[in-house]
Amino acid sequence: MRIVVIGCGLGGLSTAIRLRALGHDVTVIDKQDQPGGIAQVYRQDGFTFDAGPPFITAPWLIQELFDLAGRRTADYVTMAPLEPFYTIRFEDGSSFHFSGLAEPLARELRKFATDDIRGAVRLRAIATRLFESAFPLAQRPLTRASDAAPALGEVLRTRAYRPVASLVNANISDARLRRVFAIHPSFAGGDAARTPGVYTALQALEQRWGVWYPMGGTGALVRALAQVLVETGVVLRLGQEATEIVIAPSTRRATGVRLSAGEVLPADIVVSNADVASTYLHLVPAAVRAVETNRRILGRTYAKSLFMLCFGTDRQYADLSHYEILMGERRGGLSDDPAARPHLAAGFSLHLHRPTASDPSLAPAGCDSWYVMAAVPNLSVGTDWDSAARPFRDAIVRYLEDRYLPGLSRHIVAERCIDPRYFRDAANAHLGSAFSAAAARGQTGWRRPHNQSPDVANLYCVGAGTHPGAGVPGVLCSGKIAAQLIGGA
Ligand SMILES: Cc1cc2nc3c(=O)[nH]c(=O)nc-3n(C[C@H](O)[C@H](O)[C@H](O)COP(=O)(O)OP(=O)(O)OC[C@H]3O[C@@H](n4cnc5c(N)ncnc54)[C@H](O)[C@@H]3O)c2cc1C
Repeated sequence: MRIVVIGCGLGGLSTAIRLRALGHDVTVIDKQDQPGGIAQVYRQDGFTFDAGPPFITAPWLIQELFDLAGRRTADYVTMAPLEPFYTIRFEDGSSFHFSGLAEPLARELRKFATDDIRGAVRLRAIATRLFESAFPLAQRPLTRASDAAPALGEVLRTRAYRPVASLVNANISDARLRRVFAIHPSFAGGDAARTPGVYTALQALEQRWGVWYPMGGTGALVRALAQVLVETGVVLRLGQEATEIVIAPSTRRATGVRLSAGEVLPADIVVSNADVASTYLHLVPAAVRAVETNRRILGRTYAKSLFMLCFGTDRQYADLSHYEILMGERRGGLSDDPAARPHLAAGFSLHLHRPTASDPSLAPAGCDSWYVMAAVPNLSVGTDWDSAARPFRDAIVRYLEDRYLPGLSRHIVAERCIDPRYFRDAANAHLGSAFSAAAARGQTGWRRPHNQSPDVANLYCVGAGTHPGAGVPGVLCSGKIAAQLIGGA
């Protein structure tokens, strides 16, 4: 069958490789001129800024794609394990190296609070049980509550319907360790106080298969997947924006995809990896959407956005590891206060990525390539980023310079800022959210936007806003589910 995939993010890449392996005639289009979606790469003044997800979990989901295409992963990309996974630092000078190995992890716990070791073991057991019951569901379609039954029992038994923070706090008493073990929702744009406890399973996912870094950056992985796509016969057309999914009024089935220049690509099946809210709001006429109505879409909660500063320094800061999470104090400081200009808020955290710690090829000799990112409200709150971006950037640089990177402002020799307008304009993300529909109560499992459109039978949706959710493993799984639903040619 002729299948058009709109969007070449990681979700689109996963879907297209699988559909091609099933024998379909696949065309992928993307409005951007690089594959990878929000996993973008910028090259500037000798630095490579790898601005997408900093590391990969569940790497076998990537391996599966190479296998299906009849390729050997190692011929295309080298995946290196990170150990420890990342370092979490506090303003009192303490640091926690989150390890995948039992003994180093116990050693870190002992540094903080011996009393919490038993609680951490209990929490890990809960995370593992949730993971065992929920992860299989992340790889198949969920449309009804009964589809989720295998995990619901475990959620009830572990009381994981409570937010992640409640589950963590019930087992851990040290204030810093509470923040350490509640970190995982932040990797998918969530916040531990609101994200359902079942997401504690992400901790077990990391522990099960480790945390990996593709040498050359996530951009190198994207390039490898795009190469496989083309080598196996998928047509990849970059710089092409879809403006409409053409639906036949009589059958209510998609018949093709209209591009901004007017050309229509005929299709028996359309898969959209574009943000699911934007897909429905802007590409599918409202008249055919009885379920995914504008009201329903606009009524969902959308995850936060990101402010990112990619920067290159003319020196190295060898004390900082590949990935650091810098925890701010719970006092004034980057604010979530929607109306105000964003500034450092109570209990903020900055994620600091220094890939040159593992891979010096991303910067000139003796230099470091970085990004620092902070979660910020999405565009629903009306922040004026024209005026807010510069002061916010300065506040972050000052904070890093004062505490972690001495002399930073004098050593930045290349930089690029990304704020929520980028996610709205370059990636067509609704409200500029970096993670689409939030992983919130009422928006997970079978209540998340489905992978097969309930309104247009031959339209499928993949990517962060759909089941199972944001994050690299989530979007790769959404492609797996779409391919299962579509089946062979
Ligand atoms: C800085 C950052 C750090 C992250 N860290 C982590 C992490 O540590 N761990 C983790 O698991 N996840 C992380 N994530 C999340 C993860 O990267 C994303 O959830 C995932 O990459 C999203 O992939 P996607 O397939 O949904 O689509 P996207 O990457 O959003 O791609 C969608 C594509 O569709 C295209 N498109 C949209 N509309 C149209 C149209 N009309 N016509 C043509 N093309 C269109 C866009 O151009 C885009 O290329 C991070 C994300 C970011 C940005």
